[in-house]
Amino acid sequence: MQFRIGNGYDVHRFADAEESGAVITIGGVAIASKKRLLAHSDGDVLVHALCDALLGALALGDIGHHFPDTDPRYRGVSSLLLLQQVMMLVGEKAWEIANVDLTLIAQEPRFAPHVLAIRNSLATTMKIAADRISVKATTTEGLGFTGRKEGIACQAVALLQRQVPA
Ligand code: MG
Repeated sequence: MQFRIGNGYDVHRFADAEESGAVITIGGVAIASKKRLLAHSDGDVLVHALCDALLGALALGDIGHHFPDTDPRYRGVSSLLLLQQVMMLVGEKAWEIANVDLTLIAQEPRFAPHVLAIRNSLATTMKIAADRISVKATTTEGLGFTGRKEGIACQAVALLQRQVPA
């Protein structure tokens, strides 16, 4: 088999109260937000969905299996470290990234001004070219939990291809 595909989905909930100077972390990039995200880790919903897509392509379970939120080692940890570890698994199994496509679903904040920074952050962490990483953002027109601004969701798809021996 020369290709593997994986899909990932994650949600994080906003804190109830607005907080001046609040910041959320998306793709390792700090983004100003009216509310913090509640999470055991840094709440990086985009990186969590991406890790799950990669683990799905490898058929190696999910992010909760590899990095349990009951484990104090992962409390407050940068999710980019988890992504680095998942990328090691990709390499160990002789796969490489063909491309990934990520869709953030949120009413706010607006992610469009941060898309390039997020792609570059992921490219650095994953050691791949940014043109293999697509980041998109959509609202749900005010519908559902994202529309009510209760949280942020992210969908991820990852395609892996066999490493070409050097
Ligand atoms: Mg998560």
